[in-house]
Amino acid sequence: MKCPYCNAPMTEELLDYIVDIDDQEIRLEDVPTWVCETCDYTEVEEEVIEAVEDMLAHLDTVQADPEEE
Ligand SMILES: [Zn+2]
Repeated sequence: MKCPYCNAPMTEELLDYIVDIDDQEIRLEDVPTWVCETCDYTEVEEEVIEAVEDMLAHLDTVQADPEEE
């Protein structure tokens, strides 16, 4: 995969991924993310985003953690 901005090669790393849902930030760990070696542009794979959205769709029965930091 190449960076859409500078065309440099991108490497896949496991990074934290923050998702904003309404007023909440949900932090996911070890998400496969493409990182540009040159300009630090990052892109999460579409299938990962779809998996996250699918997971979040099932979160509506889960209460927010009152001990959130
Ligand atoms: Zn780049």
